[in-house]
Amino acid sequence: MAQTRAQARTQARDADGDGGNPRGLHFLTELANTVHEDPDAGAADLQALLDRHGGPPFRLTDTDARELREATAHVIAVLSTDDPDLAAEAINDLLDRHPARPRLVRLPGRPWSLHTRAPADAGLAHWLLSTAALALGLWLSERGGCAWGRCAAPGCERFFVDTGRRTPQRYCTPRCATRVRVAAHRAQRA
Ligand SMILES: [Zn+2]
Repeated sequence: MAQTRAQARTQARDADGDGGNPRGLHFLTELANTVHEDPDAGAADLQALLDRHGGPPFRLTDTDARELREATAHVIAVLSTDDPDLAAEAINDLLDRHPARPRLVRLPGRPWSLHTRAPADAGLAHWLLSTAALALGLWLSERGGCAWGRCAAPGCERFFVDTGRRTPQRYCTPRCATRVRVAAHRAQRA
């Protein structure tokens, strides 16, 4: 899992938790959904997920995959709470155990922004949880609450990041929202 400087930059970019484009948070919710839906998600599935999100190009072994799944349980615990005090406590605990060592980084063509800087040999759990703690902590502090949730559509329990500014988001995707609306409309007509 040795990292080059370019890989470290990729990693820093993925930790980005800025409000307009909470890219790191979308990675975290997709990881949480993958592991929640398939508690035995293998190295190939998790590798594909990391690659899709421009994560560090680790070549995951089966042991890495297990470490990543176990670490993801801590992310799921935070995403499962809608109480900001409890979420803050859980995130602070992660920050204590997996210090994010934040640095301001200036990526090409972008303004200065805050990123985690995990040591190259820290291991996957540390990489994930330091990244998650910083991204979730910044998001919670910026939004003043748990701007994430779980889909309210029947049969769907997917986590989502609530990027809306007005009404709280209830569904993971427009698809689930439409499904619920159509079902309610049919029930009304029946
Ligand atoms: Zn859904």
